[in-house]
Amino acid sequence: LHVETQLGDGVAVPVDGNPAHYLISVMRVKPDDIILLFDGRSGEWAARVRDMRKRDLVLECISQTKAPEEVPDFWLCCAPIKKGRIDLIAEKACELGVAKLQPVLTRRAVVDKLNLDRLHAHLVEAAEQCGRTALPELGAMVKLDALLREWPDDRWLFFADESGGEPLNETLRAHPGAAAFLIGPEGGFDPAEREAIRAVGKAVPVSLGPRILRAETAAIAATAAWMTLNGD
Ligand code: SAM
Repeated sequence: LHVETQLGDGVAVPVDGNPAHYLISVMRVKPDDIILLFDGRSGEWAARVRDMRKRDLVLECISQTKAPEEVPDFWLCCAPIKKGRIDLIAEKACELGVAKLQPVLTRRAVVDKLNLDRLHAHLVEAAEQCGRTALPELGAMVKLDALLREWPDDRWLFFADESGGEPLNETLRAHPGAAAFLIGPEGGFDPAEREAIRAVGKAVPVSLGPRILRAETAAIAATAAWMTLNGD
């Protein structure tokens, strides 16, 4: 629930807005109930239901229960894959503490459009479930060559290369600091893409082991490995 308020303010939430409808019809809140609010940026607040009028629900923020959180500076860049599977990547990336989820369109991607609203809803749901108060940033889809052209020179680009790369943990340990993992689509990267990625100064090809993992498995495994070494 997006709440811009100070302690003690009464926040009127329109009844026909989703959150208020959910609170009234699903959660069946009553006056004086206490609920937790978060806006995905500035932490988490306890609020009391002060008034339930015909057109809106008035909430009074009574205390900040969680400060805004710092998450490790890690981006997950992945090609769009089939619907349910990219949703899984979004959910697990949020739980694991990813700062940014960046969809990257590659030549062999079988999916070339993404419903960012749906992905954002999965991020919000995962944040609520795991207790994150800062949502991951969700980038608009970019083409691989544009991503590589603009790659920041202060961020490692670990490139999950199923055709062979450096061993995972040693490589992550040897390259501390802001990072990203780049994961290909179901059909993998084509040779020209591999060459273009390896040409980026901060790119480091990494192997995720001897087996060919599904893209979502590779994304989750790579993120978990980086977070284990660098996470909060
Ligand atoms: N085109 C590949 C093939 O059939 O051999 C499959 C691509 S795999 C389904 C999707 C992505 O997961 C790959 O592009 C790569 O980024 C990552 N991946 C899967 N297994 C990997 C491994 N053993 N090492 C590194 N990356 C891997």
